[in-house]
Amino acid sequence: MLIRATRNCPWNRCKFCPVYKGQKFGLRSLAEIKKDIETARVIQDKIKEISWKSGYGGSQVREAAAAVLNNPPDEAYHNVALWLYAGGENCFLQDSNTLIMRTKDLVEVIRFLKETLPSIKRITSYGRSDTAARKTLEELIELGEAGLSRLHIGLESGYDPLLEYMEKGVTAAKHIAGGKKIVASGISLCEYVLLGLGGEKMWREHALETAKALNEIDPDFIRVRTLTVKEGMPLYDEVENGNFIRATDERIVEEERLLIEHLDCHANFVSDHITNLLQEVEGKLPEDKERMLAVIDSFQSLSPEDRADFKLGRRVGIYTSLDDLHDLHRRDVVEQVKSRLSPDGSGVDEKVMYSLMERFI
Ligand code: SF4
Repeated sequence: MLIRATRNCPWNRCKFCPVYKGQKFGLRSLAEIKKDIETARVIQDKIKEISWKSGYGGSQVREAAAAVLNNPPDEAYHNVALWLYAGGENCFLQDSNTLIMRTKDLVEVIRFLKETLPSIKRITSYGRSDTAARKTLEELIELGEAGLSRLHIGLESGYDPLLEYMEKGVTAAKHIAGGKKIVASGISLCEYVLLGLGGEKMWREHALETAKALNEIDPDFIRVRTLTVKEGMPLYDEVENGNFIRATDERIVEEERLLIEHLDCHANFVSDHITNLLQEVEGKLPEDKERMLAVIDSFQSLSPEDRADFKLGRRVGIYTSLDDLHDLHRRDVVEQVKSRLSPDGSGVDEKVMYSLMERFI
């Protein structure tokens, strides 16, 4: 279930982020948020009623939700039906920095949510390190006790010159202060890292300093995403005018290796995003580190032809892991795509590879 607690992003300046550009940030009143939660409750009750009337029985809400999902009357029904279909236990508070709300208001929203929709077990949200660092530890503990289960923070990088260049509005020290406070409060913490953010110039420092910041924070989860550059984000112009040189896939894998090699923390490393070339590089740190590095080594030791084949297969969604290179049918399909994209056999251009990846975003 998605409940919009604030609108858009109060910072909105990160060069690599297109999400809320051109849209004004706004807090929503408690009354407005509560009305949305009450509406969700009404829709939930109607879906449960449909379940009874269709003979599914009150315990078969999932089937009724699936029926509503086939033809939802509006977006609100779609949201609630999807939530019930998935078990009705998780709620995410939008938009980009819910922590910016006054703590007492956010606590009230969380409590109201749990009272109105008692099946909810997990409430998660986005927050900025800077905002977390400005809250007291007691405030964060209060939020955790009210029911805020996890915060997702866009760390992106731990390298100050890069954070400054990208206008992230946060230093590594702020990331560490905010992150450590969340960990100390008992709220689960997930930090997002943007692979490729350092481009060709700063990839090494990006990897090393990001590992350093993460080691200090010791979050529960580290999630990696790979930089995509699309029109509408300020970074697009930087790429076009040559100020930012994008890293190749090979470089990004090298950067990821350096990052993991220097991680000395206890996080679950998660790579659950289609933009990541090696999605199988996942595991619990520190015990799975060697296995994760071995996957990267396997990619790096492929012949140039196999590497190019794998990259293309990933970017068109045919391969999911390196093992798929042994699947002759998939390889054949990738070969056909290659001949279409590079009829003269010279190989698929890096720009085309980027655009294939960016189709997924
Ligand atoms: S803080 Fe987050 S949502 Fe806001 S501009 Fe930066 S990346 Fe985008």
